[in-house]
Amino acid sequence: MAVPNAQIVRALRAIVGDTHVLTESDVAAPYLTDWTGEWHGDAVVVRPADTAEVAAVLGLCTAHDVKVTPQGGNTGLVGGSTPPPNDSRPWVLLSLRRLDTIGMPDGSGQCIAAGAGATLAAVHTATTTSPELGLMFGVDLAARDSATIGGMVATNAGGIRMIRYGDMRSQVLGLEAVLPSGDVVTRWRPLRKDNVGYHLPGLIAGSEGTLAVVTRVLLRLVQRTYRTAVALVGAADVDAARRVLVAVQRFGHTVEAAEIMTRTGVDLVAGTGVRTQIDAGATLLLEIVGGVEELSESLARAGDDVLDAVVDAGPASDLWRVRESHTETIARSSTTAPVKLDVSVPMGDVHQLISRVDEFAGRSGVRAVQFGHIGDGNIHVNLLDVPAGNRQTAADCVLGIVVELGGSISAEHGIGRAKAASIGLGRDAVDIAAMRAIKGALDPRDTMNPGVIFGG
Ligand SMILES: Cc1cc2nc3c(=O)[nH]c(=O)nc-3n(C[C@H](O)[C@H](O)[C@H](O)COP(=O)(O)OP(=O)(O)OC[C@H]3O[C@@H](n4cnc5c(N)ncnc54)[C@H](O)[C@@H]3O)c2cc1C
Repeated sequence: MAVPNAQIVRALRAIVGDTHVLTESDVAAPYLTDWTGEWHGDAVVVRPADTAEVAAVLGLCTAHDVKVTPQGGNTGLVGGSTPPPNDSRPWVLLSLRRLDTIGMPDGSGQCIAAGAGATLAAVHTATTTSPELGLMFGVDLAARDSATIGGMVATNAGGIRMIRYGDMRSQVLGLEAVLPSGDVVTRWRPLRKDNVGYHLPGLIAGSEGTLAVVTRVLLRLVQRTYRTAVALVGAADVDAARRVLVAVQRFGHTVEAAEIMTRTGVDLVAGTGVRTQIDAGATLLLEIVGGVEELSESLARAGDDVLDAVVDAGPASDLWRVRESHTETIARSSTTAPVKLDVSVPMGDVHQLISRVDEFAGRSGVRAVQFGHIGDGNIHVNLLDVPAGNRQTAADCVLGIVVELGGSISAEHGIGRAKAASIGLGRDAVDIAAMRAIKGALDPRDTMNPGVIFGG
């Protein structure tokens, strides 16, 4: 019985209003299955409107031992945004999407306030409505129309501009979050420096809904980039593509984004009608601050590693589409749910990772599509057509390669439920015990997203 009893449902209705407690399965269904379609659980869906309602819901749930999974845009890729399948405990799926208010950009503090449910795209739009401030938000990713600020903080999202502006944690100047007790923690000053005690916003960032519910975020804004140039560069292989990136950086360019794609992924995307333009073993997408001529000249100077290149002025959506269509195309073209791993290795070892995973896939009769953020060593490994019984073995083999290369088993998507069994590959026993102690201190009744990160 994953739906709380009638008395609790009545209390939830009293807090958020009848229409925002969803118990009918057809209405609740979109919230209860994740983006990958692989994870789904059962729960009553509760849609609070503001921080006070979130606090009341959490206090009620903790008091009655009802488990809570916070959810933003439901674009997470590791099964953290839905309750676990076949769980008999009473469960609330807490959708934060109604907390979508965005303030005006603050020119002197260089920041903007956003509700947890505001989408990334809406924050980008809000910063550009005051162009005279010359500011923008530095994080971007392909799920921008659905991914929310709260979910992005909770997963410490990286994205395509991480190489220039850092991860989501680095953008958080202030945070408001509700603890499982219903108490509200508020750190809300546009300060660049503030070392009073533990950095709670930094701890809640990346906690995947296991410690607190993020309700509002004060986001750092960065100087707007007015002129960029984008190139798709063909190279013989991934290592040659990496050398092109290093050469462009050595010529003194500021790199906004550096993404790698292999022939398998580019061919797959081409099959859906996207104009890919480059035919090479590896395709590097580069975006730099500057003009088309500067980037073209640098690529000419980069030498024999550049086999072919198409250059355009930013935003160059046609060139970006080749990269950004990967995730959805992969989801559509696998005969079974793709095994999705999001790993990082030292930047000089990215080519080894990709070729070793390709060899493994060849031996195992599955397709590997690998792409990602070569500028920070983060590769999204997708194994397609893996038979249901072989999924864990396939994932373990890839993670084994990552560990041998000294990498991380989760670079940006988090651990969620999908990788919880593998956490020991990324952290040692003392480290895991310290994290569990933090979880126990802030959430002693294990209200928040049980099973995520630690499993069980
Ligand atoms: C096409 C595509 C491209 C993507 N590209 C990238 C990328 O480049 N980089 C990257 O890092 N990720 C990427 N992702 C993954 C995903 O978009 C991010 O993880 C994003 O941060 C999730 O935001 P969300 O609002 O959808 O969160 P959800 O999926 O709803 O939730 C994710 C996790 O955060 C928790 N959570 C959500 N909201 C809150 C809250 N308010 N308070 C506390 N916990 C909360 C949930 O419980 C869950 O554990 C991509 C996904 C897709 C589908």
